[in-house]
Amino acid sequence: MDWRWNDVSLEEAWRLASPGVARLLEQTIAGKPLGAEEALKLTEVDGADFLALLRTADELRRRAVGDRITYVVNRNINFTNICIVGCRFCGFGRAPKAEGSYFLPLEEIVARAVEARKRGATELCIQGGLPRDLDGYHYRNILLAIKTELPEIHIHAFSPMEIVYGVEKTGLPLPEYLLMLKEAGLGSIPGTAAEVLDDDLRRILSQDKLKVHRWVEVVTTAHRLGIPTTSTLMYGHIEEPRHWIRHMLLLREIQAETGGFTEFVPLAFVHEKTRLFRSGKGRAGSTAREDLLVHALARLFFHGSIRNIQASWVKLGFEMSKACLQAGANDFGGTLMEESISKSAGATFGEYVSPEEFQAMIRDAGRVPAERTTTYELRQVFPSRGGEAAVPPRPPAVHRPYSGTGY
Ligand code: SF4
Repeated sequence: MDWRWNDVSLEEAWRLASPGVARLLEQTIAGKPLGAEEALKLTEVDGADFLALLRTADELRRRAVGDRITYVVNRNINFTNICIVGCRFCGFGRAPKAEGSYFLPLEEIVARAVEARKRGATELCIQGGLPRDLDGYHYRNILLAIKTELPEIHIHAFSPMEIVYGVEKTGLPLPEYLLMLKEAGLGSIPGTAAEVLDDDLRRILSQDKLKVHRWVEVVTTAHRLGIPTTSTLMYGHIEEPRHWIRHMLLLREIQAETGGFTEFVPLAFVHEKTRLFRSGKGRAGSTAREDLLVHALARLFFHGSIRNIQASWVKLGFEMSKACLQAGANDFGGTLMEESISKSAGATFGEYVSPEEFQAMIRDAGRVPAERTTTYELRQVFPSRGGEAAVPPRPPAVHRPYSGTGY
C-alpha cells in the first residue's frame, strides 16, 4: 500500500478518479452532506478512486481543523475485569474466580489517579467489567473518592452499558442516575458499548449487551444533561460496510439533535483472544484498506457534524495510526494505558507512550503536535518539525493491540 496519496494535489487526484466518484468528492468538499447511498458507494472504490477518497478526506480534515494533531494526557483505569456479560468479541472480561481476575479497591484507584496526575494527566478514563454483585452506587463512589483527592481532574468514565447496569442496580430513573454521577464529578462518558449499532449483529456479538435504543437513550440523555460523550464504531469482525454507514447515519442524526459528541473513534477489532474469532465466526480483524477507508469515510460523512476523528493507536499500532492521520483523522487519542505506570512499558499488559514520543510521531507525520483536554480545548501547541526541542532518545514503545474494555 502506498501511503503517499497526499503527494498529489486534490485536483490531480480528482482528475485521475472516475467521473462519478470525482463528482461525489467535489460535492462533499463543497459542503453537500454525504448521503448513505453515496457513502456506501464509496466503500467499494479502489485504485485511483480510493486514493482520491483518501486525498479528499485529508483536505476536509485540513479545512475543518487545520494541521494540528491533538492528544490528551490521560490514564486508563480498568477497575475490574470481572464481568457477567460474556461478549464474544472481548478478550478482557473474566469470571469472578478465573485466573487473572481482579477488582481494584477504591484506595488503589485513587492511588493510580494521583500518580497519573503527578505525571501530568488531565484525564482519567475509567471503565470496567460488570461483576454480578456490584453495588449500583459503586460508580458514584469511585467518582467521589477521586474528586476528593483531585478536584480538578476530568473523569471520562463508564460506558452506556455500565450506566444501564447502575440504573438497574439502584432502581433510579436514568436521568436521575446520570445527574447523580455528574454531581459526583463525572465529566464525560466514553461512547463505547456501541460496537455496531445494529440489533441483529449485536445478538451475535453479545447476547446480553444493551440494545441499540437503550444505547441511544443513555447517550442522548447524557447530552441533554450537559454530559458530552465520544462515539465509536467497532469494525473488522462480522459486519459489512453497510453496517458502518447505518451506524454513522444514526450518530449523525443524534449529533444534529444534541451536539453532544466530541469525537468519533473507529475501533479496529482485536481478534486474537476472542471467542468470536476462535469459533470461526469473526474475521481476523480489519485490513489496512478498511482502516484507511473507515477513517476517510468518517471524515467525509461527519463533515459539518462531528469535528474530530480519532485514530486509536492502541488498536491500530503507530504506523497505521499515522497513515490514518493522513486520511482524515486529526486526533491521536490518549497517552497512558492501564498498568502502564506500575508495570514496565510494553511488558505484559498495557503500554506507556510519553507526551514527547507522541509529539515526535506527530512531527514525523509532518503535522503540528498539540495537547488538548478531553473536550478538545487546546492546552499547549508544540513546534512542528524543525522548530522542536530535542527529545531524549528512548527505546520505541512496544505496540500490542489492546482488547480491553475500550469498545
Ligand atoms: S466488552 Fe465489557 S461488557 Fe462485554 S464482556 Fe468485555 S468487559 Fe464485559
